[in-house]
Order: sequence, then C-alpha cells, then structure tokens
Amino acid sequence: MSSKTWTAVDDYIVSSLFEADPVLDATLAANRDQGLPAIDVSAAQGKLLSLLVRIRGAKKVLEVGTLGGYSTIWMARGLPADGKIVTLELDPHHAKVARSNFERAGVSDKIDLRVGPALQSLAALGNENAGPFDLIFIDADKPNNPNYLAWAMKLSRSGSVIVCDNVIRDGAVLKEDGRDAYVEGARAAFSFIGSDKRLDGTAIQTVGAKGYDGFAIALVE
Ligand code: SAM
Repeated sequence: MSSKTWTAVDDYIVSSLFEADPVLDATLAANRDQGLPAIDVSAAQGKLLSLLVRIRGAKKVLEVGTLGGYSTIWMARGLPADGKIVTLELDPHHAKVARSNFERAGVSDKIDLRVGPALQSLAALGNENAGPFDLIFIDADKPNNPNYLAWAMKLSRSGSVIVCDNVIRDGAVLKEDGRDAYVEGARAAFSFIGSDKRLDGTAIQTVGAKGYDGFAIALVE
C-alpha cells in the first residue's frame, strides 16, 4: 500500500467522521502562509489527542512543542470550560503565529503559551508547582525526549497520561547505530517508558497523510 493510499484514507476518515472545520483549515493556512514547516499532527491524530483529553477527563494539559498550535487547538477543544493547557515553544515566530491561531479559534483563554527552550520552561513550571498535569503531549526536539519524559514524571500524578509523538520514524527506530539523533530520541523514549516502573505504556504505529510514524502512550501508575 502506498503513501498515496494512506493520505486518501486519512481524507476518508476526515470526510466521514468530522464536520467541516474552517477554523482548523485557517490554522493550517496561516501556518503555511507564515512559512512554518508542515510538521503538525494530522487531523485524525489531532482528534485522537482531543478524545484522549476527554477520555482522561483532563483539566490540565501540558504540551512540549507548539509550532502553530494545531495540536493545541485540538486538545483545547477536548477540555472542560475551566480546563487549561500550558504549551511550550522555542521559536518566537512559531509562537506569534500560534497566538493568532488561538485567537481565531476562540481558545486563547485556555492557553498559557511560554516561549523559550522547553527545558527552561519546564524548570520554571516545576518551581511554580504548576503540576500535576493530567495529560502531557511531547512533540518537540526529539533528542530531548528523555529529558522531557523525566520532567513529565515530575509534573504528573498517578493516572496522568503521557503521549510522545514520532517514535517510529519510518521504522528507523530499529536502527541501533546511533547515527541519527532523532532516531536516538525515539529509542530513548522506548527505553524510558520500558524501564520506569511507574509507567505502563505501548506504542501505536501510524500511517496517514504524515507518512509512517507512531505515538507512544503511557499511563502513570
Ligand atoms: N505539536 C505541534 C502540532 O502538532 O501542531 C507540532 C510541534 S513541531 C513537531 C515541534 C515544535 O517544537 C517546533 O515548533 C519547534 O520550534 C519546537 N521546538 C524545538 N525545539 C524546542 C525546544 N528546545 N524547546 C521548545 N520547543 C522546541
């Protein structure tokens, strides 16, 4: 089966199950117009994140890696009226585009967007006792996955859900040669989740409009 078929099936999923969504369409158009890379989650994956927020009954969500806020908007839509997302982004231009996307989507009041290296922002959240978060989505610079997972453990509680994106990487996750820092980041996520006794996790391989990749999902015991 080709990637063309994966994309066509993603389109089928969206047209069969989702209502027309001019706000999310405008988000992706703004990201494109502002020169952001098209590395956001797909619509089907965004809806999965939104459903996970609802299934968990999450009120506090932490996201590492905002880009233009496409995944943030999906998750914000899954929150109750008093729910909040803290989302962390390094690039000020990405953050500026995200803020404007949040305004258009009417979710700005739910979102605390912090600009800077995520490890610094996470340390600040730790100092502020901002946790525990009910759901944590890790989707930034992959070599830092183990550091982000370590912070996720500090900022979570029993019952929190941790999702880590891009852990399959076209199957390159099997490569043990250590040459690709992004693959190493994916492998480090598996090592972390597999070895921390407080975590019970799995990974789901995905194909679709964004190619062949996958999510790791773990529950904090
Ligand atoms: N979650 C977004 C979505 O699906 O719409 C996509 C996030 S994109 C894959 C990764 C983002 O992480 C980029 O915007 C990048 O600038 C940001 N990033 C990279 N390194 C970072 C760091 N050290 N701290 C915070 N953000 C970082």
